[in-house]
Amino acid sequence: MKGKNWREALIERVKPYRFRYDEPLAGYTSFRIGGPADLLVEINTRDELERLVSHCEREGIPWLLLGRGSNVLIKDQGLGGVVLHLGPDFGRIAVDGVHVRAGAAAPLALVAETAARHGLSGLEFASGIPGSLGGGIFMNAGAYGNEMKDVVVSAEVYQPGEGIISLTKEGLELGYRTSRLQRSGGILLEALLQLTPGEEESIRAKMKALNAKRRAKQPLEYPSAGSVFKRPEGAYAGRLIEEAGLKGKTVGKAQVSPKHAGFIINLGGATARDVLTLIEEVRTEVYQRTGYWLEPELRILGRE
Ligand SMILES: Cc1cc2nc3c(=O)[nH]c(=O)nc-3n(C[C@H](O)[C@H](O)[C@H](O)COP(=O)(O)OP(=O)(O)OC[C@H]3O[C@@H](n4cnc5c(N)ncnc54)[C@H](O)[C@@H]3O)c2cc1C
Repeated sequence: MKGKNWREALIERVKPYRFRYDEPLAGYTSFRIGGPADLLVEINTRDELERLVSHCEREGIPWLLLGRGSNVLIKDQGLGGVVLHLGPDFGRIAVDGVHVRAGAAAPLALVAETAARHGLSGLEFASGIPGSLGGGIFMNAGAYGNEMKDVVVSAEVYQPGEGIISLTKEGLELGYRTSRLQRSGGILLEALLQLTPGEEESIRAKMKALNAKRRAKQPLEYPSAGSVFKRPEGAYAGRLIEEAGLKGKTVGKAQVSPKHAGFIINLGGATARDVLTLIEEVRTEVYQRTGYWLEPELRILGRE
């Protein structure tokens, strides 16, 4: 990063919607864990986004986009450079026939709710996923036999160095908890989804049933980042962890949930170090007992 006044220079150039220096990030994550960002910037237009990212790229300033922070573990030392947040104008949702066009910052639950209100089926699975549309497509989020891939038609993406590009569903390369965005560094701006006509009442009944199932099985009463590990081929991470006798295993204030072994919960005041140590202990133990090496699903971010 060039010069000690790089933050002032960036603010001057980008004129973002909102910004904060040395902002603790715990409050921006569902885990309630994470050290400070050197600079947190909220932008509200595509123009601000282009100016910010191209300035950072040119000046060698690291940047990272955070969605609703429900699939990340931010280290205790925080994040160097700029953490970028999309403002309210990126959260718009519009319905046209069987199509829903929504901005990246729109909460998935709100997109699902809007679809239900218009008698559109296909997003019931997403109504209990606490992320944003952008994070949902970046992760190809899924639950109960469905995933974002089933409903996405196309997306507009800001690709640093190229500008705004349109990608079809195929171009987004959506796979199990993966997408092209994880490899390209592109920022999803908005997406077009295609749903099917249905009865509002039965759509809502399905959403209610799935969310009741979630509440019964998942430790939603504690901060977490959802499932910590990806599903290994031919097995379930939660089951392997449970069979290894690790339910309830605790490091500091981080615990393998006694309710759902696939979740690590924050008992209150857990550090990222607690969670990372627990993740490594769980992986090692599961590997020794079963031969499966679990890969984290959550994104581990931040400086050492
Ligand atoms: C209680 C709980 C239950 C959950 N249940 C499920 C579930 O059933 N199924 C499931 O798949 N997940 C689940 N999750 C995980 C999480 O909600 C999803 O992965 C969600 O899609 C993440 O979205 P986000 O906006 O929070 O992303 P963040 O956590 O903010 O970011 C995750 C990654 O996406 C990137 N990103 C975010 N927005 C964009 C964008 N616009 N463009 C490019 N990159 C972007 C970030 O840079 C980061 O690398 C659960 C989490 C919790 C806490």
